Amino acid sequence: MQLSQYVNTFGQMMLRRQGERVHKVTLNAEFTCPNRDGSKGRGGCTFCNNASFSPTARKPPDIAAQLEAGRRVIRKRTGARKYIAYFQAYTNTYADVTTLSALYEQALAEPDVIGLAVGTRPDCVPDAVLDLLQSYQRRGFDIWLELGLQSSFDRTLERVNRGHGFAEYVTAIQAAHERGLKVCTHLILGLPGETAAHCEITLQRVIALGVAGLKLHPLHVVKGTLLANEWRRGLYQPLQLDEYIDIAADLVAATPPEIVFHRLTATASPNMLLAPDWCGQKWKTLNRLTRELHRRRQRQGDRVLAGSPAFAASESTSNREKHIGKAR
Ligand code: SF4
Repeated sequence: MQLSQYVNTFGQMMLRRQGERVHKVTLNAEFTCPNRDGSKGRGGCTFCNNASFSPTARKPPDIAAQLEAGRRVIRKRTGARKYIAYFQAYTNTYADVTTLSALYEQALAEPDVIGLAVGTRPDCVPDAVLDLLQSYQRRGFDIWLELGLQSSFDRTLERVNRGHGFAEYVTAIQAAHERGLKVCTHLILGLPGETAAHCEITLQRVIALGVAGLKLHPLHVVKGTLLANEWRRGLYQPLQLDEYIDIAADLVAATPPEIVFHRLTATASPNMLLAPDWCGQKWKTLNRLTRELHRRRQRQGDRVLAGSPAFAASESTSNREKHIGKAR
């Protein structure tokens, strides 16, 4: 029983398209975040680890060295020969276009790097940056714009001090679509004040606007955050594993099969993670999700209801066979 029998995963999608395994290599290009330096907000999101922004934090190696180190580990583990350079840490479009292009092109210059994934905020993707990403796509690179939305509810976004609302996401995704860019949207399950119903509504809104990929994360509490203070004072309770699995399985089944799941859980290092403790065990969570979908006899797309935005976005039921393994 494998997750890819139930879910259109990024790994399997790339295997189908490229005929071989393609892995993301995570990079830290030393960006910061406009939600911390005052240009969009101050203090950052309540769940974001402030220590990460410490000026005394150790300087990461240059892009080529990070790529080499990442590839070495992945190659040894999986035998992969092609990679996506994933600009992950902080807000990876938060610089002028000249600086950005110099960084992105260092990664694209590597012969086995076939594309970029660029993680950022919806309020930090000006036209010039989207034009730059489009130019790489036109050169044949596989480009993913990863937008951290987390929730479509402005009240929630305000509560976690996100510094942007849903409207900025709508603007960003429309601008990305105008350029034919693929967007992978990040959603968090278990945000303060939210229930499974909020997650479902957010998913439907995101699907209605059109999206090529999704990442689901449980909200976890890490040291050095405002959320950690709330959790210590009993003002925030993270999801239990069973609750997360239940909501995630619902969302997967309600997602059209052609949308690619880049991630279905998240982990934090043991020395940073405060709660919930199950977030430290990525494979346990993924195995539980696989077993839950198997128990329900549901695969991605099985709960896409006729008339829903997801149904309109979905091509057809038989489409599932094209994107997801057939075994049940
Ligand atoms: S937008 Fe991202 S990097 Fe910036 S404060 Fe929030 S979580 Fe941290």
